[in-house]
Amino acid sequence: VSKIIGLTGGIGSGKTTVAHFIEEFGFPVYYSDDRAKTIVNDNGEVKAKIKDLLGNEAYDEQGLYDRKFVAEKVFNNNDLLQQLNEIIHPAVRIDFEEWVKKQTKYLVFKETALLFELKLNLACYKSVLVTAEDNIRIKRVMDRDGKTYREVESIMEKQMPEKEKIKLADCIIYNNTNLEDLKEQTEKIIFEIE
Ligand code: ATP
Repeated sequence: VSKIIGLTGGIGSGKTTVAHFIEEFGFPVYYSDDRAKTIVNDNGEVKAKIKDLLGNEAYDEQGLYDRKFVAEKVFNNNDLLQQLNEIIHPAVRIDFEEWVKKQTKYLVFKETALLFELKLNLACYKSVLVTAEDNIRIKRVMDRDGKTYREVESIMEKQMPEKEKIKLADCIIYNNTNLEDLKEQTEKIIFEIE
């Protein structure tokens, strides 16, 4: 059986970049968010539950998940958002368990923004946090997504504070400089896990 390493970080921290480096070093990565996006379209049971919760308009005429409609519906309705998450998160968890069973490497990585929030770290052998200074993260997301400073900052404010994540993480990657340094730190961490 493979050891599961949780890989996390807040918005713009660089966790996806780190995940890609990890794959380059030959280790498999499960991308929770990407899988969730597939699951809401492919899993019939999940689809039915989402329609029950939010209405048939949660899917368009082609039967595809209408992200914009759902986002508007759950915006400022925490109760509804929580119920939606209670449909999606367990399905991702099951999907991950099936994925893990198929892996043959001694280490596998699970990339998720919500590792600590959902206490998924408890099911991991080790947790790796990617972090960087707020201003740097905001700047990177502004460049990547064309969002304003304030837009990125408001997303950040809704996430678990870095301080708390740092306390919970087994290993920390500080992504304040360049990609070369980030790759070196990534390599060091993955080959030091035993
Ligand atoms: P999100 O949660 O928002 O998806 P993330 O944690 O996955 O973010 P990435 O997408 O990996 O973050 O990185 C954010 C942006 O910053 C990307 O455009 C990435 O290419 C860039 N980036 C990350 N690290 C560095 C770095 N050290 N130097 C320069 N650019 C970087």
